[in-house]
Amino acid sequence: MSKIIVIGSSNTDMVIVSDRLPKPGETILGGQFLLNPGGKGANQAVAAAKLGGETHFVCKVGNDVFGEMARKQFIETGIHCEFVQTDFENPSGVALINVDAHGENCITVASGANGSLSKADIDNASILFEKENILLIQLEIPLASVWYAVEKAANAGMKVILNPAPAAQIPDHIYPHLFAITPNETEIELLTGITVTHLDDAKKAAKKLIEKGVPHVFITLGAQGAYYQSAHDELFVPTQAVKAVDTTAAGDCFNGALAVALSKQKTWLDAITFSCRAATYSVMHAGAQASMPKLSDL
Ligand code: AMP
Repeated sequence: MSKIIVIGSSNTDMVIVSDRLPKPGETILGGQFLLNPGGKGANQAVAAAKLGGETHFVCKVGNDVFGEMARKQFIETGIHCEFVQTDFENPSGVALINVDAHGENCITVASGANGSLSKADIDNASILFEKENILLIQLEIPLASVWYAVEKAANAGMKVILNPAPAAQIPDHIYPHLFAITPNETEIELLTGITVTHLDDAKKAAKKLIEKGVPHVFITLGAQGAYYQSAHDELFVPTQAVKAVDTTAAGDCFNGALAVALSKQKTWLDAITFSCRAATYSVMHAGAQASMPKLSDL
């Protein structure tokens, strides 16, 4: 089994649920408070570890209580934390989230230590850049560091899975270094200019990315399921119809599961089916990291 190296963000989400969102200058009493670990990198590392992947997480947290909590949680989940690095100048990443009774939200994120994850921090973890390992990376840390890690991993002969979230442009020279890319509908529209509403649109958009040089394209399609295309194959896996409780981090769960499937040399059909099942489980449960399934849950 290959090791999975996740490089990315770790945040603490502070959520207040109230009847309605406050207006500027207004104070509202009577909300419910939730403190949830989050960040796309951490969510994906937790998903991979819970599903049985040998997972190493490279990230940066502040020298504060949130950083300590995150590290403790990673260790309890079975994540290897030797490159969870401490930033002594910036606080841990925090998201302040107001949610109203209809689920409408308002979010501000202070990236903190995530914003200082540098090329040097990635070089600190050089020992993990070995041919047989898989890199799973997103776009929630400085993009210069992301492209550096992608090139470093590809040069070492590693398989790189890029989850292009949150949506941002990718330089053309990066695509040929990728083994797989996993956009959702919003992200693929930004990358290709194609609005994906039907399967035919997904096919056209995936083809565009393959032409840019990435051999394996997975498009997640929310409640519809997921689509895979390579030069030789295409697959569509519809989701089971379920009652969605909370879709937060469904995409993160899909990515963590995909890395696990690839680390175990599963077939493409098995990989996409497994990833969809895991992600569908996550939408049936509340929270981000708390909603990720263990292998035994599937
Ligand atoms: P998304 O990032 O929203 O495209 O979702 C990622 C994956 O989560 C999808 O490919 C599905 O496998 C799963 N998923 C998302 N929303 C739902 C839903 N409402 N019901 C079942 N599965 C879902």
